[in-house]
Amino acid sequence: MEHLINPKVKDIQISGIRKISNLVSTYKDALTLTIGQPDFPTPQHIMDAGKAAIDAHKTTYTPNPGLLELRQAAAAYVSGKYGLTYRPETEIIVTAGASQALDITLRTILEEGAEVLLPGPIYPGYEPLVRLCGGIPVYVDTRHNGFKLTAELLEPHITEKTRCIILCYPSNPTGRVLSSQELADIAALLADKSIFVISDEIYSELIYDQSHTSIAKYDGMREKTIVINGLSKSHSMTGWRIGFTFAPESISQHMVKVHQYNVTCASSVSQYAALEALTNGVDDALPMKEAYVARRDFVYDRLVHMGFELEKPEGAFYLFPSIERFKLSSMDFTMKLLEEQRVAVVPGDAFSSFGEGYIRISYAYSMEVLEKAMERLAAFVSKL
Ligand code: PMP
Repeated sequence: MEHLINPKVKDIQISGIRKISNLVSTYKDALTLTIGQPDFPTPQHIMDAGKAAIDAHKTTYTPNPGLLELRQAAAAYVSGKYGLTYRPETEIIVTAGASQALDITLRTILEEGAEVLLPGPIYPGYEPLVRLCGGIPVYVDTRHNGFKLTAELLEPHITEKTRCIILCYPSNPTGRVLSSQELADIAALLADKSIFVISDEIYSELIYDQSHTSIAKYDGMREKTIVINGLSKSHSMTGWRIGFTFAPESISQHMVKVHQYNVTCASSVSQYAALEALTNGVDDALPMKEAYVARRDFVYDRLVHMGFELEKPEGAFYLFPSIERFKLSSMDFTMKLLEEQRVAVVPGDAFSSFGEGYIRISYAYSMEVLEKAMERLAAFVSKL
């Protein structure tokens, strides 16, 4: 029966990050720096709220876009932190993680042949979703600008078929963040164009040297932007599966239909936990952020000391050093490092072909693991 499977589904591949994670699990003594998941537990008060929801039998369906109280809390959160204003009743949807938020957004706005601009290297979760919708990914090379998209880099790629651009800042995999001037320039380019902007701001709380700014704040941008966020990274809640979309009613009213037929609603228990996170845990990311800064500085300094060329990331929890001078593909470098020194990283080509020549190192690991891994990496490169 396989010949009857949707060819678009047949064509998409398991993500390069998953592939490497699966492989690493066969090396029992490997130090793994591959995962994009906080190593901190979910804060206790949030877990308690989840347990209390179960005990109180709050285990039924919620409204399709999520509990109104949670949408109200999410509205207050993005307004207080980022100056974004969205109406809880009609402009916010609670989703099963940012992943499902991306899926319903793309399915709402794309059709066959629509072009989607992706600044590469970029998170590998977008392209397969675009392709499933019949969209065409169009990559914009950001390598020569320290992985930062600019209006100048973007402009030549805009065609009549361009339906949307996906921004992911702070970036996975590079950790780079755009300055407000850089965002303003991109906003000025897009303001009078009929192009949607999907702004994946899942790392908005993990930003180290400046405060987070959303492109939706700039003139003319709110009406065309879908902001995506969630609690996976900010509140160490990856398994709870809570994300959000923030978009004007003209877009949200259509997204909520896709959402309804897709999952009905996000998990009720998780929504009550999320309500606690966004009311009494607004700054829960702060202690984690402090730890991430120390780890970033440590790993960055070690990599520079080993002779790696890399940009100093301003957010998320990844570093993306160049391995070009070793004359190995990112996959060969990764495999050799794993086999010889038992350290696992993600080959850059997992983040589109523009990631070839780099590796992604996640520092969402304890300092102890990072110290050992850096020792092994130093031993490895000294022999190359
Ligand atoms: N966007 C980016 C850039 C991510 O790195 C991730 C998770 N690795 C997601 C979205 C998905 O997040 P969630 O767990 O909320 O689905």
